[in-house]
Amino acid sequence: MNVIEELNEEVRKRRKKPYNKGAKILINTELCKSCALCALVCPTGVLEMVENKKNIYNYSAEAVKPEYCTLCNLCVYQCPDFAISIEKGGGK
Ligand code: SF4
Ligand code: SF4
Repeated sequence: MNVIEELNEEVRKRRKKPYNKGAKILINTELCKSCALCALVCPTGVLEMVENKKNIYNYSAEAVKPEYCTLCNLCVYQCPDFAISIEKGGGK
């Protein structure tokens, strides 16, 4: 298991129950430098690092489980490249 798989495995353990319906976590994958800070900081395991051949680092963050998002905005504040924005959507 490589370090990315280990990280994804770790964040999956944080998913306890869905929180919302319709939140959109928008990630500009061109700005993403694959640092994984957002995935590390997300308390509910919404974000994983996924392979992305269009990104120069070959990986980018992706909101694989947006329904677990609590809209806390930690990932938005943490991203050094301002690559993430959140749309609330339909709420709970
Ligand atoms: S914190 Fe920003 S730059 Fe780092 S992986 Fe997440 S979206 Fe990409
Ligand atoms: S807003 Fe909070 S819960 Fe939602 S993806 Fe970002 S860090 Fe995770």
